[in-house]
Amino acid sequence: MVDRPAVRIIGAGPTGALLAILLQRRGHAVELYETRPDPRGRPPESGRSINLALADRGIHALRLAGVFRELEQALLPMRGRLIHGTERGTSLQPYGQRPNELIYSISRHRLNQTLLEVAARQPGVTVHFEHRFETAEFDQGTALIRDLRHDRLISVPMRPLLATDGAGSWMRRRMSSVHLIDAQETDLKHGYKELSIPPDAAGRHRMARDALHIWPRGNHMLIALPNEDGSFTATLFLAKHGEVSFDSLTEPAAIERFLSQNFPDARELMPDRIAEFNDHPVGFLGTVSASPWHYRGMTALIGDSAHAIVPFHGQGMNCCFEDCVEFDACIPKHASWESVFAEFGALRKPNTDAIADMALDNYLEMRERVAHPKFQLQQALSLELERRFPQYFIPRYSMVMFHHEIPYQTALRRGTVQAELLAQLTAGTASTLSDIDFERAEREIRARLTPLD
Ligand SMILES: Cc1cc2nc3c(=O)[nH]c(=O)nc-3n(C[C@H](O)[C@H](O)[C@H](O)COP(=O)(O)OP(=O)(O)OC[C@H]3O[C@@H](n4cnc5c(N)ncnc54)[C@H](O)[C@@H]3O)c2cc1C
Repeated sequence: MVDRPAVRIIGAGPTGALLAILLQRRGHAVELYETRPDPRGRPPESGRSINLALADRGIHALRLAGVFRELEQALLPMRGRLIHGTERGTSLQPYGQRPNELIYSISRHRLNQTLLEVAARQPGVTVHFEHRFETAEFDQGTALIRDLRHDRLISVPMRPLLATDGAGSWMRRRMSSVHLIDAQETDLKHGYKELSIPPDAAGRHRMARDALHIWPRGNHMLIALPNEDGSFTATLFLAKHGEVSFDSLTEPAAIERFLSQNFPDARELMPDRIAEFNDHPVGFLGTVSASPWHYRGMTALIGDSAHAIVPFHGQGMNCCFEDCVEFDACIPKHASWESVFAEFGALRKPNTDAIADMALDNYLEMRERVAHPKFQLQQALSLELERRFPQYFIPRYSMVMFHHEIPYQTALRRGTVQAELLAQLTAGTASTLSDIDFERAEREIRARLTPLD
């Protein structure tokens, strides 16, 4: 077990706040530095996604930290994808088949506020808002942090300083610029923009509130998640540049044409669409990869700062929460922070690489494959195979979203074998489950997959 000096954390987003709670439980004093003002008692800042999908991995971590109960009443269950076709029809693709196989929409602001409230009321946790990490002097083992209220620089010792400062991490960029680590930021050619679907006159949701709505349109898509106040937050994912892109959609007439051609039913529900389209920024999407995640026993990257991913599996924050639990579990096994950091990176990176790949793959699935009859047959078949052979076959989506005990890399590996099987079993003219040869399916499954523990 490492000594218990104060731990410094930069970035009080979901990762930093949850980590502060877990570290305090281990007996560490925690100093948490955050650029932004205190979000408690304030309306949400615009910019980042307004709501998030929370799933089993995130819930498991929140339960372990004792925070879940305070958030439970703010969760809106979503039981499947409600696909909006081009002809205005809809169809529900359930996410799972057991009553608890749901994902939940939660307000980012509410989640951040609650985590910070819980963190700040722990004895020994101090949160310094409006304090921005600026740089680190690794030869001296110190970090420079600017107190924005008084415009003065303060120097704090690292050993350890945990950097949970998000996808654009200054700490990661600093470590990379002095060649302590290798780091890449890979931008997606697509960006996103948020639009809103307000409640009806009675304050109710204007579409089914127990689903994640998707309008898959091949090269772009719209999704919408429910909010507690009866509204939905819709997110348009689209190429940043090119013929049909955010660049090309600037004139009201062009925006109207694009929305009515692609999402006529959603367009009617968005009275402020033109103003929002013009006012809301185009958000950046990308994947961050870094190695190693730490420097000696001084500092370590955790959460998005180490491995930000694209949002198409709804796992970024869930994965960050899992980071916190795994990091916390490494602490009692080691006598130095350097060994804690090294073990954490070695255990965790293969899993975060796996979810990064699956998240990219899921973009194609959401914007394109979900609309194809063959994909829908394979979805139905994978649930049927899980019913018949639960020891061997769990759909990849379910492994990721509903089974925190299955590591991401196992989900990726088994999912690849399962995808081949599904393709073989549904090849040719198969169009319904009655066309499937289940005896062959059983033989192949037993030959190619080991039973799950
Ligand atoms: C459009 C979109 C949709 C998403 N949807 C989902 C979803 O449905 N489900 C899901 O699980 N994940 C989702 N994610 C991912 C999720 O938002 C992130 O994985 C998560 O926010 C990462 O948490 P974090 O605390 O590591 O980083 P952040 O949330 O980025 O927090 C970092 C914190 O550090 C602070 N900070 C930054 N720089 C400094 C500095 N120099 N000094 C001090 N403080 C600093 C920031 O102000 C911030 O508070 C989505 C992401 C996007 C972009």
